[in-house]
Amino acid sequence: MDVEALLGRLVAWPTVSDRPVTGIAAELANCLEAVGMRVETLEATEAGKCNLVCSAGPAGTDGVVLSGHMDVVPVEGQPWTSDPFVLTRRGDRLVGRGACDMKAFLAAIVVALTRTPPRDLRRELVLMFTHDEEVGCLGSRALADKYAAEGRTLPTLALIGEPTSFHMLRMHPGHVAARITCAGRAAHSSRPDLGQNAIRLAARVIDALDALAERWRHDVRFPELLERPFVVMNVATIHGGNAVNIVPDRCIVDLGFRPLPGMSPEALFEEIREAVEPLGSVRAELVRVTPAMLTPAGTPLEALLRPWAASPDTAAASFATDGGNFERLGMRTLVFGPGSIDVAHKADEYVPIDELHRAVDVVDAVVAHRCRLP
Ligand SMILES: [Zn+2]
Repeated sequence: MDVEALLGRLVAWPTVSDRPVTGIAAELANCLEAVGMRVETLEATEAGKCNLVCSAGPAGTDGVVLSGHMDVVPVEGQPWTSDPFVLTRRGDRLVGRGACDMKAFLAAIVVALTRTPPRDLRRELVLMFTHDEEVGCLGSRALADKYAAEGRTLPTLALIGEPTSFHMLRMHPGHVAARITCAGRAAHSSRPDLGQNAIRLAARVIDALDALAERWRHDVRFPELLERPFVVMNVATIHGGNAVNIVPDRCIVDLGFRPLPGMSPEALFEEIREAVEPLGSVRAELVRVTPAMLTPAGTPLEALLRPWAASPDTAAASFATDGGNFERLGMRTLVFGPGSIDVAHKADEYVPIDELHRAVDVVDAVVAHRCRLP
């Protein structure tokens, strides 16, 4: 099987997070069933969404988990110079949505296992392909909930092939989405004293959030790994008001912040609540938590990847991955894969062709060392 051709087939599924992934999951499942893997499609409650988990080798033995998400980010409003869902060769690059983030790694896994089928493994190989990573790691959270409840034993080492240009990343902050609703009282704008302006209230909320973000900057952790070694906050969207002659009765502020490993996302959210709710008719809600990830330096997987790595050192990712949820299952994850995060999520996303081919060899080596060799 040709890895470039397979990547073309995977890119052709427009698996933007608001669309189904069941088609691409079925195509991957067919390929992996054909090489003898046990295949489980775990349907989500939302129609069209599923995780795909494939395994080979003796269950409960500590081989390795290889993982990737099947969804991609939207293309609307981006200046693509070719159809984003038609993988296009340009010089030494393959261009398409998901080319590096992260269908290249999915294709590399399938091609490596087609070349050397996972038969007679000594230790278990598990593939975990997730949905809705790009909108808050929802698929991996469902997997972690399910497997934690079932007490399923999984390999303790995991590789997520996000585009890192083959740098080994062992840590990343999490992400928490929160919503603050400011309530006011509508009135005709000619009599503003009869109303209560929710947007003005939101302005005070944002001042309070800024003050809190400034306090958080002083709690420095992991300065050796992070460029911004503190919790960063982003006031992301604001919606309020109906017409220019009405005092607005409602304003909603959505924000995100990024807890560091070892911090409680819920406790940080409580600090937000305590900062804004005393301002009056303000309600803070925790919308979604994507956990941080921290893998200790020096795992056997790190040693295994080092010969393939762009640098012998491990580093941190600025973006969150499914690895935070996998940590709850006792997995120590490294994020390491073909392509660059600098071109992911943008127009004309691409993977360098040589890196795509190298990813096949990396998968082959990892499976050989973790699952085949004594
Ligand atoms: Zn990704």
